[in-house]
Amino acid sequence: MSQGSKINAKVERIGPPLILGEGPHWDEETQKLYYVDIDGMAMWRYDPATGKNTKYELGEKTVSLIVPVQGQPSKYVISWGRELVKVNWDGEDKHSNFKLTVEPIAAVEKDLHNNRFNDGKVDLNGRLWAGTMPMGEEFEYTVATPGRGSLYTLEEGGKVATQLTGVGIANGLDWTRDNKTMYYIDSILRRVDCFDFNGGSLNTASRRTIFDFEKNGIKGVPDGMTMDKEGKLWVACFNGYQVIRIDPESGKLLGHVPIPAAMTTSVAFGGPKLDILYVTSASLGMTDEERKRDGNAGALFRVTGLGVSGYPSRSIKLA
Ligand code: CA
Repeated sequence: MSQGSKINAKVERIGPPLILGEGPHWDEETQKLYYVDIDGMAMWRYDPATGKNTKYELGEKTVSLIVPVQGQPSKYVISWGRELVKVNWDGEDKHSNFKLTVEPIAAVEKDLHNNRFNDGKVDLNGRLWAGTMPMGEEFEYTVATPGRGSLYTLEEGGKVATQLTGVGIANGLDWTRDNKTMYYIDSILRRVDCFDFNGGSLNTASRRTIFDFEKNGIKGVPDGMTMDKEGKLWVACFNGYQVIRIDPESGKLLGHVPIPAAMTTSVAFGGPKLDILYVTSASLGMTDEERKRDGNAGALFRVTGLGVSGYPSRSIKLA
């Protein structure tokens, strides 16, 4: 079936192949892109001015998101397994003059040892939303036994509030600029859903589907997502070799951008004009040798010439 018309754009690989590249976050202040390698247990930074990618491997536990802290330069909130922690990072590769500090903020699902944090994003109020999922299992198994994750917010004082339960794989999030609607992807459901948001509080009863991958014959499953200035959504298609653009008002597929990596994972607008779409990808299940040989699977990509711009990623407000 149709994937919508192909959007003419230039796609360039700009990063090395990671295991599970994810969570692109354009930091307007430093004009740099932060992202993570979830299974590589590392935070990454891409500097467009030099073209250099740097990383800090934390190890031990998965890292699924990184967001700068408002007013605290070089401080970031990251997820680490089922924890949210604050770290400092100079943005460089590991070196002897830098010492990482890890300050715990919150932890969830203490008894769900197989779960980990997944996608997360800061809303228009400066509050972090992040969901969980089971790890280390086939997608088909997660489909067969869904709903073992939840979607949380990090509230003032480091308290975590449960916003949604019965979550399969918590993924893409974004909000309309009037702060009245939240878009949300549970990848297991292969849908993009929306909720009434009422300026900050989620109306769970208002949940409705705006775009169904099954019904529209879209390859793969929806993963990360971002909104452009026309209010349209860009959705990464995991196992779909593409990013699609959809209209959340009409539910129509507007087009697609082919990406030379099957496991396209997430998207964020960035650059001085916010008109560059950064796209992360994964190389799950490949050996190191296969990963190097392929080159594209797991890499970071830059898409230019889309003719549309987005919003900078939002940093987190921490008391
Ligand atoms: Ca994701």
